[in-house]
Amino acid sequence: MQMELKSVAVYCGSSFGTSEVYREAAVRLGQELAERGLTLIYGGASVGLMGAVADAVLEAGGSVTGVIPTLLEAREISHRNLTELIVVDSMHERKRTMIERADGFIALPGGPGTMEELFEVMTWSQIGLHQKPFGLLNINGYYDQLIQFFDHMNKEGFYKDEYRENVLVSSDPASLLNTFATYHAPGVKTY
Ligand code: AMP
Repeated sequence: MQMELKSVAVYCGSSFGTSEVYREAAVRLGQELAERGLTLIYGGASVGLMGAVADAVLEAGGSVTGVIPTLLEAREISHRNLTELIVVDSMHERKRTMIERADGFIALPGGPGTMEELFEVMTWSQIGLHQKPFGLLNINGYYDQLIQFFDHMNKEGFYKDEYRENVLVSSDPASLLNTFATYHAPGVKTY
């Protein structure tokens, strides 16, 4: 059954990266979400690409829900002008809340925190804990090596075809969101 897309979680760096193209992509994604009336669910910080995507949604008149753990509230400087800010007790609760609240997931370029969030979405999909689409916004070829590694996992028999095929990839926010509309969740992993 196709789920109506109302909100999208965006995982991305708490840094800007070395190239301006990353910030520009975060802004373009934020604008695209707002234009489509999709609520942004994200980590609630004002720093790096996280702040850039939230600001872009808000400036375009869209809605943003931030989910930040108390531990990081001061360190990542929680964004003060969000539509909604949810303060949670732990990193685990942050990730669970974001997965529950969002109807789909996008990873912009980011570091280990972004990877951990993406991998949880990928693995929960395999186990059948959610049936929602997810994709990589592959800006500036940032995720090329990771995509190659997914193919390597698949070739070596550790990542089944039906799950590997489920990883959506695009360098364009609008195209990636369009592929969400025709997404069909895979079956639950068998052993
Ligand atoms: P990064 O991609 O490393 O810049 O981190 C992006 C976001 O992920 C930041 O808000 C980090 O605080 C967050 N993050 C880092 N590690 C974890 C974790 N273990 N669980 C949940 N979020 C995390």
